[in-house]
Amino acid sequence: MNIQPTYSSLDYPGKMALVLFIPGCDLRCKYCHNPQLLKNEKFAPWELEEVFDAVDENIDFIDAIVISGGEPLLHVDVVKKFIKKAKKENLLIKLDTNGLHPDGVEKVIKSLDYVAMDIKAPLDEYYKISDVYPKNARQLITRSIDIIRQNKVFLECRTTYVPTLLTKDDVVNLVSDIDCDMYTLQQFRNRLTFDSSLANVTEPNPEDLLEIVQSLDTQIPEIHLKSNQFGNQTIKKQ
Ligand code: SF4
Repeated sequence: MNIQPTYSSLDYPGKMALVLFIPGCDLRCKYCHNPQLLKNEKFAPWELEEVFDAVDENIDFIDAIVISGGEPLLHVDVVKKFIKKAKKENLLIKLDTNGLHPDGVEKVIKSLDYVAMDIKAPLDEYYKISDVYPKNARQLITRSIDIIRQNKVFLECRTTYVPTLLTKDDVVNLVSDIDCDMYTLQQFRNRLTFDSSLANVTEPNPEDLLEIVQSLDTQIPEIHLKSNQFGNQTIKKQ
């Protein structure tokens, strides 16, 4: 099956979730940890039935589904089918997205409880993290954020910090352009990356990442730092 449901207590904060990784993505982030999910796939009806069966099998243990990828909004019709199933079972629904598909966001936003959006670089500088990216990334991401805010769905924005691709100023810069409920800076891990040369890049020190998040001058009410050493730390919560 192309979509392999994975049981997780980490992907929806405070909830047990079944994570559905939908293959296909329109970016090629150098640090991508899911390079096996980048190729676009078509889904046979029986594959979707297998996902529904997995939801049924885990229904006593889960509170939510997380629709992830890849970039799930490349398959809005599949996303809608998962949403319909989750609604039927009274499950919460979280969507992970790269923010580049505001039309897709608009089609599903009213059914969502939580959106996690990757803000990968300053909005005009996506060339820093991927050789493939839309030139109007700023417009697309800003529109996606606007739609989510207008619909009052919880929005977490998050950035993976790779020391050779981003600087502290880049993080300060990109955070000044976004409006969300929570911002998370994630430590880059150098295992299994789309660009294999990143295997030689040292993972950033959590103390350096802490210095970056503490320097952020932002109205975002909740700031987190995720590292292998200290897990998910709340740095600020209003
Ligand atoms: S990390 Fe980048 S390339 Fe990988 S799935 Fe996410 S958006 Fe796509």
